[in-house]
Amino acid sequence: MAFTVRDCWTGNMPGANGTSSHGLDEVREATGAIKAVLLDMDGVVYRGETILDGVLDFLAWSEGMGIRLLYVTNNATKTPSMFVDKLAAMGIEALPDQIITSAEATAGWMARNVQPGSKVQIVGGPGVWNAMITRGFQPANSPQAADFVVVGMDFNLDYRKCAEATLAIAAGADFIATNVDSTFPSEEGNIPGAGAIVSLLKTASGVEPTVIGKPSPGMFEEAMARLALQPHECLMVGDRYETDIEGAQKLGIWTLGIGTGVTSVEEFLGKDQPPNFVVQDMEEFLDLFRGSNLLGCRRAGPH
Ligand SMILES: [Mg+2]
Repeated sequence: MAFTVRDCWTGNMPGANGTSSHGLDEVREATGAIKAVLLDMDGVVYRGETILDGVLDFLAWSEGMGIRLLYVTNNATKTPSMFVDKLAAMGIEALPDQIITSAEATAGWMARNVQPGSKVQIVGGPGVWNAMITRGFQPANSPQAADFVVVGMDFNLDYRKCAEATLAIAAGADFIATNVDSTFPSEEGNIPGAGAIVSLLKTASGVEPTVIGKPSPGMFEEAMARLALQPHECLMVGDRYETDIEGAQKLGIWTLGIGTGVTSVEEFLGKDQPPNFVVQDMEEFLDLFRGSNLLGCRRAGPH
């Protein structure tokens, strides 16, 4: 059955539970409240190196509306500047401050919660290293000297790094994971992700890590801290229900599931707690908010 935007906000969605939670009133409430959109990247903005249809129109519209944008990704392999370059190659202008990777969120969380200048043992690539060093954390020169073990995706993982991380955790270092995505989407298909590396260290150490990336609250808290906004003023747009949507729902952030990535429209709608909105793609997303003819209401609002 074809799914349309109209189904989304009239409450006639397949799989909807009969309440009016997806009705026009909700679009009205959301468009009045939302001051920022948090965009997942892979499967929402692009796939691989290809920008998805409707993204540039959406970005132009949101800029015109004064809606602030943050890009939030569990991908900790790149630095914000590297993501800025990737987006620029697709015609998207973004600033490094608008990019929150799970490595950035981890460093931000640590900056708020742990002793400045703590020593870290890192299993991870440039994204993790850059985030830690930028926030003033120092590499530990031995496992015994580490206050924290921070683990993210590492394309150069080797046995020595795993051994040192395990020894550091055994010596009392806190175990922190940037994210626990089981797989990483490579050009060749899904390969082991940060979660697979974390599992290895969990098995070896017998210790459960603190996880910062989606669906944990740390990532969303970092986004809201940067924006100085409350959850009900933000909309999370994601393609993977278990990370993007579930995590945001826990904090009371508006959610929109988009069918251009991992979770299909039908799957989103079949969840016990579906996102507030479900669209097939960015073009439908734009139609949903622009087509609700509520722009005047928004401008008339208190903010
Ligand atoms: Mg995604």
